[in-house]
Amino acid sequence: MSILSCAHTHTPHCDGKTPAPDMARRAYELGFISLGFSSHAAQTFDPEYCIDPARENEYKAEIRALAREYEGRMRIYLGIERDLYSCADPAGYDYFIAAVHYFEKPDGHHAAVDGHAESLKAYVDECCGGDGMEMARRYFSMLRDYVLESRPAIIAHFDLIRKNNAKLRLYDEDSPAYRRLALDALRPLAETGALLEVNTGAMARGYLDTPYPAPFLLREWKNWGGEVIVNSDCHDMRFLTCGYEEAEALLLFLGYDHAVRLGKSEMWEQFPLG
Ligand SMILES: [Zn+2]
Ligand SMILES: [Zn+2]
Repeated sequence: MSILSCAHTHTPHCDGKTPAPDMARRAYELGFISLGFSSHAAQTFDPEYCIDPARENEYKAEIRALAREYEGRMRIYLGIERDLYSCADPAGYDYFIAAVHYFEKPDGHHAAVDGHAESLKAYVDECCGGDGMEMARRYFSMLRDYVLESRPAIIAHFDLIRKNNAKLRLYDEDSPAYRRLALDALRPLAETGALLEVNTGAMARGYLDTPYPAPFLLREWKNWGGEVIVNSDCHDMRFLTCGYEEAEALLLFLGYDHAVRLGKSEMWEQFPLG
């Protein structure tokens, strides 16, 4: 296993279960060369999932102190996973990961993309006329526009809608129409230089048996000259490298010979797969 890093790691400052010092210790035991923390950035709703805006400095201070503690042994970076609806300023962080986790409803409330299936189903029925493809169209267009506008280092779990689709079957993932929709949203992002995340988090949590995004997207991303980064979206240190071997095998199968990770000297470094 050559990946030896994760740039998408949560802490109890948001919905993570493992305290940052324990996560860092686990990463070091596994021989990681680097570790990036990326708690959910502060937002104005769904407070149990994100950093409390009043305590954002505590998060920053804890991660910076850990970085000093591991200096010379394992490089630790301070990041955030920043949602489209987040109110946090990405300045002051080493990097941010752009994500769309919510649909906004006409009444101002939000439905979580990867939350309870029933709540997403209600959103599709009430706000998309029951049309799962319309939900997918909205999701991809929000994520595409957010990445183009915010210029993140990393694009999080590009096809996160697959999580609930596995249960709800809101649209056909193999249909040409769906594939065109997803590819059309992804294509312009290759030119931003953002890293496309191969996210194994849903494998660790038992929702999917392959990473985000689907192989057909990864194959085209490579053809467009895009770079990938493998992350476990880790909320629990027991799963820090869950799915890494499968992700690496998939990338090799698709013709990738390298990926990118947080480096020891350079912030982003290419390394060979396999
Ligand atoms: Zn996320
Ligand atoms: Zn995450």
